[in-house]
Amino acid sequence: MVALNNNDFLVMPISDYLISSEKVAHVQVGNNAEHALLVLTKTGYSAIPVLDAKYKLRGLLGIGMITDAILGLERIEYERLSDLKVDDIMQTDLPLIRTTDRFQKGLDLLINHTFLCVTDEEGTFAGILTRRVMLKQFKKYVYSSR
Ligand code: AMP
Repeated sequence: MVALNNNDFLVMPISDYLISSEKVAHVQVGNNAEHALLVLTKTGYSAIPVLDAKYKLRGLLGIGMITDAILGLERIEYERLSDLKVDDIMQTDLPLIRTTDRFQKGLDLLINHTFLCVTDEEGTFAGILTRRVMLKQFKKYVYSSR
């Protein structure tokens, strides 16, 4: 059990730890699954956010969701990739986290997610919070308090 003398970092705003939206690879609603697969493969990311034209967060798309959608009875039906829209296969029930939320909320949610999509109060995509960045920061606090 980690016992820190000073837990102030738990109330720090998560906005300090974001990878900002302009550095985050994404796809747009209306894009087809072929384009999404290309972006995911080229970037090497397991999942990326789906945004609309106004930069509002609409969902999350991972390689597994795409392969699952084109899985036929006996083979993977690659020819369906160009007809499938990301809107039809993306995950929409995402954990809700805002730029104004605190470090502790991010830490709690990142136990079950490798990264979180963060929005402002209007739902506009602000960036992502990754488990890697938060763990690095957490490690810094733990080591500096010893
Ligand atoms: P990492 O902490 O770098 O291992 O990233 C974990 C996951 O967060 C990746 O597999 C992606 O799904 C997502 N991710 C991290 N950085 C980016 C980025 N710049 N653009 C899009 N997704 C990202």
